[in-house]
Amino acid sequence: MPYIWVRSLKIWALIQERFTVKNWTFGGEGSSESVRKELEDVWGILATENYGMSELIGPGVSGECVHKMGMHINEDYFLAEIIDPVTQEVLEDGQIGELVITTLDKEALPLIRYRTKDLTRLIKEPCACGRTTKRMEKISGRSDDMLIIRGVNVFPTQIEEVMGEFDELAPHYEILLRKEGHLDTLEIKIELKTDMNLDSYQYLQNLEKEIKHRLRTMLNLQAIVSLVSPKTLQRFEGKAKTY
Ligand SMILES: [Zn+2]
Repeated sequence: MPYIWVRSLKIWALIQERFTVKNWTFGGEGSSESVRKELEDVWGILATENYGMSELIGPGVSGECVHKMGMHINEDYFLAEIIDPVTQEVLEDGQIGELVITTLDKEALPLIRYRTKDLTRLIKEPCACGRTTKRMEKISGRSDDMLIIRGVNVFPTQIEEVMGEFDELAPHYEILLRKEGHLDTLEIKIELKTDMNLDSYQYLQNLEKEIKHRLRTMLNLQAIVSLVSPKTLQRFEGKAKTY
């Protein structure tokens, strides 16, 4: 199958206009679910997700099939493991952790148990397409972003997952870690959406409580939740910023 690696949306559009490509596969930071969905609707294409990194091969370590139930790993070329980023212990399939890859066919520059720093989980249940290779979920974050709070590993993506459950919240938040004596305290400031009715104090109190409860279940950790007015948190482009 001919393969073209293109980075810009303008060039994608030109190619699509000229060749009417039926299947596109996307990877990297620009490959959000919503962009793919929109391109599928507008262009009538099949837009799948692909994972790769330049150190390994570029695109092609794994990719979705038409069923989009996770990315099939090309296991004849890559051995995938998931480890706990702190203890480096190998985790069972289904558990979230850092993806470690060993290249099986790469010459000259083989990589053995290469830590990608990407967080995902492996799926071994069969896929509807019939392929039997293990699959991996879309990358949910970077192990660099992991925090260790009171001995518990906390991934910002877990916080985002909880936030996604509440319609009242905008996707902007700040994690504040403080040390009080020997104890780490975790505070999460979360912005409210502009179109929410913020007049009722009782309502906001209850909302805070509910988020706190969900975070506790997800993280196994008590966090302080502070809801802040819309557009009050600083915005950063791209990856998370630590300071
Ligand atoms: Zn499949």
